[in-house]
Amino acid sequence: MARNIGPACRICRRENLKLYLKGDRCYSDKCAFERRAFGPGQHGQSKFKKLSDYAVQLREKQKVKSMYGMVEGQFRLTFDRAERQKGVTGENLLVLLERRLDSAIFRLGMASSRNQARQLVRHKHVLVNGRKVNIPSFLVSVGDEITLKEKSRTNSLIVENLEAVARRGVPSWLELDKDNVKAKVKTLPNREELTLPIQEHLIVELYSK
Ligand code: SF4
Repeated sequence: MARNIGPACRICRRENLKLYLKGDRCYSDKCAFERRAFGPGQHGQSKFKKLSDYAVQLREKQKVKSMYGMVEGQFRLTFDRAERQKGVTGENLLVLLERRLDSAIFRLGMASSRNQARQLVRHKHVLVNGRKVNIPSFLVSVGDEITLKEKSRTNSLIVENLEAVARRGVPSWLELDKDNVKAKVKTLPNREELTLPIQEHLIVELYSK
């Protein structure tokens, strides 16, 4: 499956926002954004940057795409699906992105980043309703039970991740039973659950051109 393998910290610096793409490193003083909070490249520190409306919309889309580790084709397909659903397209888009299995695993704290969560799913560590699911874009639904393979539950990396769950917290649409490494989807996420600043209307405007 196609994915973005470019330098993650460069993306944060370009978007001028911490996107938490590298797990624990993002919470440490090694974070590149903390050390160099200006754009990458020769003109990264230039103060004369007036962005056109199009550029602002494009940057917003690139930012969200990077947050969820998606390439353009996958992201566009998700947007098209959001557009076909009832309700506000931008909000539908964010809900669909949050419902991705890799995103849910990250939100539950079983992985320290969405990238790591994708690896866990791809390597068949994750079970949904007792069945192995190795598709990161699988959409979780209300009532789904998410857990890990018995052997994986004692994996030191996962245990460490779950220990750190208090730092990030678990969104209220998910319920985590940390001791049994088991979670349940209580309800669908809503717009208020998303803590990162996203202006989804800019993405809708961009794709509506
Ligand atoms: Fe972004 Fe994390 Fe790199 Fe910091 S360490 S710049 S938050 S990816």
